[in-house]
Amino acid sequence: MAEPYDLVVIGTGPGGYVCAIRAAQLGMKVAVVEKRATHGGTCLNVGCIPSKALLHASELYEEAGHAFPGMGIKVKPELDLGAMQKFKAEGVDGNVKGVEFLLKKNKIDSVHGTGRITAPGKIAVSSENGGDAKLLATKSIVIATGSDVARLPGIEIDEQRVVSSTGALELPEVPKKLLVVGAGIIGLELGSVWRRLGAEVLVVEFLDRIVPGIDGEIAKNFQRLLTRQGIAFKLGHKVTGVKPNGSAVTATIEPAQGGAKEDIDANVVLVSIGRVPYTDGLGLETVGVRLDNRRRVIVDEHYATNVPGIYAIGDVIHGPMLAHKAEDEGIAVAEILAGQAGHVNYDVIPNVIYTYPEVAAVGKTEEELKEAGIPYNVGKFPFTANGRAKANKQTDGFVKVLADAKTDRVLGVHILGPDAGTMIAEAAVLMEFGGSAEDLARTCHAHPTLPEAVKEAAMAVEKRAIHI
Ligand SMILES: Cc1cc2nc3c(=O)[nH]c(=O)nc-3n(C[C@H](O)[C@H](O)[C@H](O)COP(=O)(O)OP(=O)(O)OC[C@H]3O[C@@H](n4cnc5c(N)ncnc54)[C@H](O)[C@@H]3O)c2cc1C
Repeated sequence: MAEPYDLVVIGTGPGGYVCAIRAAQLGMKVAVVEKRATHGGTCLNVGCIPSKALLHASELYEEAGHAFPGMGIKVKPELDLGAMQKFKAEGVDGNVKGVEFLLKKNKIDSVHGTGRITAPGKIAVSSENGGDAKLLATKSIVIATGSDVARLPGIEIDEQRVVSSTGALELPEVPKKLLVVGAGIIGLELGSVWRRLGAEVLVVEFLDRIVPGIDGEIAKNFQRLLTRQGIAFKLGHKVTGVKPNGSAVTATIEPAQGGAKEDIDANVVLVSIGRVPYTDGLGLETVGVRLDNRRRVIVDEHYATNVPGIYAIGDVIHGPMLAHKAEDEGIAVAEILAGQAGHVNYDVIPNVIYTYPEVAAVGKTEEELKEAGIPYNVGKFPFTANGRAKANKQTDGFVKVLADAKTDRVLGVHILGPDAGTMIAEAAVLMEFGGSAEDLARTCHAHPTLPEAVKEAAMAVEKRAIHI
């Protein structure tokens, strides 16, 4: 066997490929193992990137039809779904090729096939055509195998009429009726895409609220805006079965706590009830790597599993299933392996929903602060009072800043509004530096911009917002 690697990373999603690059930068001899034909994992192939391409294109399509006339622009938009899908595919292609280039640039060996850990420091990579497994020897292994779609018992996903997010990104035509199971981020993003393109969308959610984990006040207002756009919600209900019905399907739903059943016809059902860690066929039982009760790989604060030399990061471990969380963990574990002090601050991980308007959050929600018994002050500022938003006639939503009542330190920032996902970055930087609402309020913000609403919300913590 050839000279062993310092590090072999299994999986080249945002966690794995970023980890491999950082480790190579730090002088390690690195290989990656990937079972997909292309690098970039869920995020680049069937997740963040293709969904954002469709969200971008469909938002412009809707704007062209609805907002342009009011701005004095006369057009009659016509949907060419094939071309829109091509636009999406080109975005994916550009991104996955970018990762391939970066791996080569950093002299990282790329091995295609399914990796299985046979012993600490030993990986067998089998190719799809079942040829002889390639054996890799390494000092350290990082498991970055990500996650897979969660399924509903008894409901088969055929990716035609009953689809996961992967199938929902590839629909060959706009469904007349789309039933979305689960009012989480992915369901609402993809539901928005198809509603904008002409589908009638109904979202069925088990809980009595949408987007669990997002600040309750933001979620309520967000639901109101989505409803106004034409998305219908049935909260507190569960889908118990889906039967084919000609070229369509009939879904049976019932109240979450039990009760009268109801049949709902749809052309497509999107099952978006979450994601589960992916560890199938990885050999974890053989080497004794421990999993928790949700089948996530258990790691300590250094991303080390219970087996020396085996580490794990990203969706396959605890924490929010987000690409940037996986990336930061990739960097942290590479630095730890190089003897540095790699670290991720889990209190400051932004979370964005890329609908219109967007939702963005960082830090604690009001509910979390109340539960923890932390006294806090609230500053709020609506986009109806922001000059730029008024000029653009995009005034839906507001910014909410939550600051520690004693120290004024910002503990959470929540934004519902246009471009919220971009605006949340300044809140993350502020919180990373332990900044206060006053720091934010006294930072000069360019006029006229939407982020002035963030500054004004910070000023509102001390009840001194100017424009309201
Ligand atoms: C529709 C959708 C939209 C999303 N949008 C966003 C978003 O806007 N922002 C955001 O932050 N997150 C988003 N996510 C979540 C994001 O995609 C994940 O959090 C992220 O991809 C996790 O990265 P990862 O590196 O842990 O794993 P993954 O990206 O899942 O990568 C794991 C890789 O490991 C490979 N693999 C698995 N097992 C093996 C094996 N045994 N051998 C070899 N290779 C293996 C897989 O093929 C895969 O390529 C979205 C997800 C979906 C589905």
